[in-house]
Amino acid sequence: MKSCPQCKSNMIIDIVYGFPSKKMLEDASNSKINLGGCDISPSNPDYKCKSCGYEFKELDKFFKK
Ligand SMILES: [Zn+2]
Repeated sequence: MKSCPQCKSNMIIDIVYGFPSKKMLEDASNSKINLGGCDISPSNPDYKCKSCGYEFKELDKFFKK
């Protein structure tokens, strides 16, 4: 389970990039995902915390065990 590095909440949703499909728009309106827009860059965050709004990247990339 992912948790927010800032507030430790586990209410984390994916940020999805690219032109949104109908399903993605539905998920976004249900707050299951966050639409990141069409501007795709490697430095874009992958996840968003629903508690505090903090956006972050996949932590496993930085903290490999
Ligand atoms: Zn948070």
